[in-house]
Amino acid sequence: MLTKLLQTVLLGLLVIASTSCVDTTTPLDPNQRPPGENLLEAATPPARCSVEQLAPTAMDLQLHVIDVGQGDALLLRTPDDGDPSNATAMGLTILIDAGNLGELGTNDGARYVADWFEREGIERIDYAIVTHAHADHFGGMFGIFERFDVENVVDPGYDPGTTRYREYLAAAEAEVAENGGQLFRPPVPGLVTQLGDELMWGDELTVRLLAASDRATLGERDNARVNNTSIVIHIEYNGTRLLLMGDAEEELEAALVNQGVDLRANILKVGHHGSSTSSSNLLLSAVWPDEIPRERRLALISSGRRDFNGAQLPSVGTVFRLRRATSDDPNVASAARVFSTEFGDEVKSEEEAAGDDNIVTVVRPDGTFDACFVR
Ligand SMILES: [Zn+2]
Repeated sequence: MLTKLLQTVLLGLLVIASTSCVDTTTPLDPNQRPPGENLLEAATPPARCSVEQLAPTAMDLQLHVIDVGQGDALLLRTPDDGDPSNATAMGLTILIDAGNLGELGTNDGARYVADWFEREGIERIDYAIVTHAHADHFGGMFGIFERFDVENVVDPGYDPGTTRYREYLAAAEAEVAENGGQLFRPPVPGLVTQLGDELMWGDELTVRLLAASDRATLGERDNARVNNTSIVIHIEYNGTRLLLMGDAEEELEAALVNQGVDLRANILKVGHHGSSTSSSNLLLSAVWPDEIPRERRLALISSGRRDFNGAQLPSVGTVFRLRRATSDDPNVASAARVFSTEFGDEVKSEEEAAGDDNIVTVVRPDGTFDACFVR
């Protein structure tokens, strides 16, 4: 199955240690917060999915943000023309991150992913991608390897030295060996080019795996450095583009922009759970230049509980910037095109806050797209 592959360009990667993506930055600059308004509560959440939206056609590209609470788990389903003999529309099932371990008070990401996969009728995974070595992204993979056959695993190749991460890597190696696949793991720093040469998800898709060329120095805190090793994924399908930021923080955003990478996109999976460390104005202007009309912009946030040691996820200021950037009226922050898995979760426990705000995004062959909630 490795022959079904390719087009990807990788630019390099980054570095360092620690175990979660807790946002320990200083509280939000009050100037970013519109006076007198709690933005996270203010606007009416975007629409629930209609029956039609939940029955996409085979040639649609689908991106689902599975609500795993605090963490990321994205399901990408590529178009399927029903003909396995060509390299077009291969109908791949790709899981990007799998939520947390389910230990020490965290949600069991694999459980929520498995529930969603059962609903989707999915039993095997062509590619599982871990964006970076934090437990709220790789933790759920243990349970995924137990429940599903995973053929290939893509890993950014940065080892922060934690026991859990090494256990996941060993489990990934065993899983792909059992299923005749491959572990794509860039050995620092050459791996990316190799990875870029070997991944293809169908001729109709242009896929680029992006990373900064300097793996070791982006960010001052260990936590930020690991986040900045995130694999960033850019996908184009018939003129509609998706950009999946992993937990990239502003240093990686700036590195990508400064390297001249084309980051223009319609659908943005927001970096680092909507944290104040990410989605800088520099990034947003590169992703959404004026040529992309606001009605062709969409932001997706995967986040659970909102309070990390006093810092909020997602950050009110970040949500505000995203709403303003996607609103029909640039002076007004409308919620219509910003979707988050934490809507309404503020009074819930972490366990209750998972599984109740799944986001389904569909990109059609004619270039139209929309998103909706499955609650
Ligand atoms: Zn994270």
